[in-house]
Amino acid sequence: AAISPLLEVTAIEVFYESSILAVADVSLRVGPGEIVALLGANGAGKSTTLKAISGLVLADRAVVSRGDIRLRGESVAGIAANLLAARGIVHVLEGRHVFGHLTVEENLRAGTFLRRPGRREMERGIEEIYGYFPRLRTKRSTPAGLTSGGEQQMLAIGRALLTRPELVLLDEPSMGLAPIIVEEIFEIITALNRSNGTAFLIAEQNVAVSLRHAHRGYVLDNGRVAIEANADELLARGNLADIYLGV
Ligand code: ATP
Repeated sequence: AAISPLLEVTAIEVFYESSILAVADVSLRVGPGEIVALLGANGAGKSTTLKAISGLVLADRAVVSRGDIRLRGESVAGIAANLLAARGIVHVLEGRHVFGHLTVEENLRAGTFLRRPGRREMERGIEEIYGYFPRLRTKRSTPAGLTSGGEQQMLAIGRALLTRPELVLLDEPSMGLAPIIVEEIFEIITALNRSNGTAFLIAEQNVAVSLRHAHRGYVLDNGRVAIEANADELLARGNLADIYLGV
């Protein structure tokens, strides 16, 4: 039998409360250890797709009205986000949600609550995160609110990684950051992916950077998948941004 993908989204449709159709028909898959880019203009449905997968649509009073979401072949549609985290999916929201008054390290410690790790496991996890994100080690005692946007994004990702996810849903990590910092973040994502096989589904408007680091990509247009291809192929279509991303 064929090995089922880590994540398989089949023909989902998502409505917000006010009966706004945000996602009309999205199917996608993420294999174990894959980095997949989810591209599209503002409002194309990227964030809603990620929220449908992580269960956070419920918090926005939206419903997945059609389709299915399967994790290792098992339907997880309608399951709450905290339960999904225990099954290995973690969602890093757009906009870097860190506790500004807590230090960087306190933020990391606050993030591991889902798994209730033992002390040694926690210390090991935090050391590992500092290994990937040296800037976080440097700023470990600084209140997160006083660190740069890039450091806050790294912190949000680092905190999510402490749950030891198999799949990270990442919503626009490049938002508002300088190109050199965006590059640094994507290089860390690639390094993480290579060393522990963590899979990533990354919603991005930054086509060039995300495709240079992804294996495959999907382009959403008006709540539907317009193109699905390997990252190389998508990169080779130089006019992608003009056609679908409203650039
Ligand atoms: P962005 O980059 O702006 O986040 P996106 O591709 O992630 O864009 P979504 O945020 O998923 O797109 O938005 C898809 C559609 O759903 C848009 O028409 C948007 O206005 C609508 N929408 C998003 N969030 C809500 C909400 N909380 N309530 C009602 N409509 C919403």
